[in-house]
Amino acid sequence: MEKKRERYDVVIIGGGAGGLTAGIYCGRARLKTIIIEKALVGGLATYTNEIENYPGFPEGATGLGLMELFHKQAKKFGVEFKLTDVKAVRLDGEIKEVETFRVIYEARAVIVASGGKPRLTGAKNEENYLYDKGISFCATCDAAANTDKTVMVVGSGDAAIEEGMFLTRFASKVIVSVMHEEGVMDCNEIAKAEALQNPKMEFIWNTVVDSFEGEGRLDTVVLRDVKKDELLPVKVDTCFLFIGYLPNTELFKGMLEMNRAGYLITNERMETNLPGVYAVGDVRDKFLKQVATAVGDGAIAGYGAEKYISESETYERQILNHGAPSLVYLWNAVDEGCRALLPVIESAEEALAGQAAVTRVDIYKSDGIARRLGVQEVPAVVYIRDNQIQQVLSGDITLDKIKAMVK
Ligand SMILES: Cc1cc2nc3c(=O)[nH]c(=O)nc-3n(C[C@H](O)[C@H](O)[C@H](O)COP(=O)(O)OP(=O)(O)OC[C@H]3O[C@@H](n4cnc5c(N)ncnc54)[C@H](O)[C@@H]3O)c2cc1C
Repeated sequence: MEKKRERYDVVIIGGGAGGLTAGIYCGRARLKTIIIEKALVGGLATYTNEIENYPGFPEGATGLGLMELFHKQAKKFGVEFKLTDVKAVRLDGEIKEVETFRVIYEARAVIVASGGKPRLTGAKNEENYLYDKGISFCATCDAAANTDKTVMVVGSGDAAIEEGMFLTRFASKVIVSVMHEEGVMDCNEIAKAEALQNPKMEFIWNTVVDSFEGEGRLDTVVLRDVKKDELLPVKVDTCFLFIGYLPNTELFKGMLEMNRAGYLITNERMETNLPGVYAVGDVRDKFLKQVATAVGDGAIAGYGAEKYISESETYERQILNHGAPSLVYLWNAVDEGCRALLPVIESAEEALAGQAAVTRVDIYKSDGIARRLGVQEVPAVVYIRDNQIQQVLSGDITLDKIKAMVK
């Protein structure tokens, strides 16, 4: 069965903090925008009980509550949502394709905001107990079901310890498996001090998970003491894994540049190696993965996508001029030398009337057209015909030289 095709200005893959923010910016710029989300709109942040470091919420906010506000704001600006999995992408070329089970979405710009997924321990039998069978990645989701029970947290980073402390509000005991020496943890010092004083938290140092056991549902986590090389079975009702995340980038392998761990590489404009394709949030290689930084990335990509699309339109219509001769003066409004050449360009426009269309592009406002033309230094005059660059004039630009180019 042939898939239906739908056309958008922008397709955003992933509806977490980064994707929703990009959506708000695109929607507000009146771009026809769709966010495709395979699980829950709001993404990873909805898994977090309390977000205390997102500005504007001095009393803190629940991850779910905060993401509901983002979602509402995106919908207010006309962003459409589709709850389905993106199966394949074709991202080179002017019109990009994002394929789901039933539909191929076409767009001029694509923003990848697919975040990450929890890392597994790799211990024996792990696959048999994931999610509703006893291994959880979400304290907010599964804390209440563990009221007065014994749970284990694996990991000692910020997420592990903060979520572990949250679990002590429900569980009678939270056993934390830490792979480091006694007292050594990966979390921040404040969280560490609080956790070590929490009477409901018990730490088992120098351990990693060897296997998960239980009849149908998990009931025992077998830890291995890496110093003594001894096995230590621990009875638990649920085991929470907080040992890091892996990027959701399988779809983009061979297409988008990534680092060795699979995170997408962008510049500070969130541009990937392909024109019109942006990456934001946890999926990209960056220093700090948080809601606040995903929001910043989303804002930049949304703004960039809007600029890219309007520049594409100008480029096709005005610069390429449907194959007819076209002269482009690339200049910088704040540069004296560029301004001094404006009368020369005006004279060229008069002299070449009927022979070539003349366009002035101020790179101070936007350098996208210059980048498409491969021009790095201004002032420059580019002559285009048959949709191809014929000649680039820079340095000593005169009326005679411009006229000679067009002949
Ligand atoms: C336990 C925990 C606690 C945290 N606490 C805090 C905190 O206190 N403060 C803070 O600022 N940050 C916190 N973070 C980090 C924060 O949640 C993330 O940095 C943020 O959610 C990243 O947003 P994102 O949009 O980049 O990605 P995500 O929120 O991961 O969203 C990506 C979305 O893309 C979707 N997706 C992936 N692949 C596809 C596909 N093929 N098709 C369609 N959809 C797809 C996913 O389903 C997901 O919803 C915490 C994270 C965790 C795990």
